[in-house]
Amino acid sequence: MACASQPQTLSDIVESGLCVGCGLCQAIAGPEAVQFVTTPEGRERPLQQAEIVAEGWQAITRTCPGTHVIGRDELAETEGAEIDPVWGPYRQVQLAHASDKDIRYRAASGGVLTALAKQLLESGQVKYILQVRASEERPMRSETVMSRTEGEVIQAAGSRYGPATPLAAIRAALDTGEPFAFIGKPCDVTALRLYAREDARVDQQCKAMLAMVCGGAPEFRKSRDLVQELGYSEDDVTLFRYRGYGNPGRARIEFADGHAEERSYLELWADEGKWCIQPRCKICPDAIGESADVAAADYWPGGAPVGEDAGFNSILIRSKAGEALVAGAVEDGNLTITRALDIRDMDDTQPHQVRKKQALWARFAGMRAAGHRIPHVEGLRLEALARTQPLSDNLAAARGSRQRSHAGRLSEPPARDADALKPGETQ
Ligand SMILES: Cc1cc2nc3c(=O)[nH]c(=O)nc-3n(C[C@H](O)[C@H](O)[C@H](O)COP(=O)(O)OP(=O)(O)OC[C@H]3O[C@@H](n4cnc5c(N)ncnc54)[C@H](O)[C@@H]3O)c2cc1C
Ligand code: SF4
Ligand code: SF4
Repeated sequence: MACASQPQTLSDIVESGLCVGCGLCQAIAGPEAVQFVTTPEGRERPLQQAEIVAEGWQAITRTCPGTHVIGRDELAETEGAEIDPVWGPYRQVQLAHASDKDIRYRAASGGVLTALAKQLLESGQVKYILQVRASEERPMRSETVMSRTEGEVIQAAGSRYGPATPLAAIRAALDTGEPFAFIGKPCDVTALRLYAREDARVDQQCKAMLAMVCGGAPEFRKSRDLVQELGYSEDDVTLFRYRGYGNPGRARIEFADGHAEERSYLELWADEGKWCIQPRCKICPDAIGESADVAAADYWPGGAPVGEDAGFNSILIRSKAGEALVAGAVEDGNLTITRALDIRDMDDTQPHQVRKKQALWARFAGMRAAGHRIPHVEGLRLEALARTQPLSDNLAAARGSRQRSHAGRLSEPPARDADALKPGETQ
């Protein structure tokens, strides 16, 4: 059982179910001290190989986004942003899509993130985009890349519903000395904002932090189990696309023998028992990219797609830097704004995010009561949001998370490498 004290080791973070698998601890401690393994459950987790020097460990405890989450409510004062209790800081909320038809079609939703990446490269503001894409060698996995051309950012378009460790490359990125932009999940962006407090080069070199709104990152087993159900193994897969080529588009898996399978978005997510979302995501205090300059989301009134459309994103433009980037992208023909949205449109299109944020303070209370370690949260208005909820809802949320904690459903086993398991060892 995880306890409520400060984590003393990476294992403490992992076993408390707080690790998001971002890779930052490896960048800080070095690959000789921290290696990443894919666990039997299909999680990318850090495994300590050698002593981490005290200074490195202190930096990890200050920057790990599993254990620390920060907001940017200061943007109200510094940049005149509005602060919504649920959605955080914003200067504008817009409905938008990539102007390029091909990007819009291939991208996860409307292609806003790819269009902004293209804008950053074309305008010369950055030399590359630090982001993830399908691995060329193992198409079911994701790899981190520095995309330097339009073709490379388009290659990275689309959502990867599996583990990714983009922050493992942050030191290498900073060592280039070049300006760059970052695209990642909200927790990845949190990690980068936290790391900016340790390494001044982040603010000097990283010209934009862009996030997708995130419902949770599935473990690798979600994809692995689907391939196995189809009678194949990972080695047979030549393409694994989760969505895109339409909005939402169909998941498509291609095999070396020429066979291909497709699933609609709703089919892929129909069975909640097969979502395989990692434990930390279930208590994520910021799944909406409060630390990003721009956060992009799906725009599906009611919260789910009712069919295919041409591709749209709702975008929360949070900072002045994000606003300038979007304005430049519109002016240069990379981005099309359809219309302004009201912040309450976000509630209708992302109802799961609203429910989650409103319940979190009570969930944390329940976890604390169970002696479970919880993330340290700066900002994000969780307590104020809980006060807007009926007492009965808060009590139910607290009770539920206390029970889940006692049942071990918010914890993880120690990290171990699935590939290193001996025959007969249980997964
Ligand atoms: C795990 C996951 C959960 C999501 N949950 C929600 C949700 O609840 N609500 C919602 O509105 N949208 C969710 N999305 C986001 C949505 O699918 C779109 O990615 C988002 O709307 C941006 O669309 P786009 O067309 O601008 O993206 P694109 O232009 O296609 O660009 C996508 C960008 O995301 C990056 N990326 C893809 N997968 C990952 C990953 N796993 N880790 C880090 N970076 C990645 C790519 O490198 C690319 O730069 C989720 C995405 C993921 C990966
Ligand atoms: S969340 Fe990131 S920094 Fe924290 S332990 Fe996991 S991989 Fe390391
Ligand atoms: S739900 Fe939160 S912790 Fe999980 S992947 Fe998304 S942003 Fe990261």
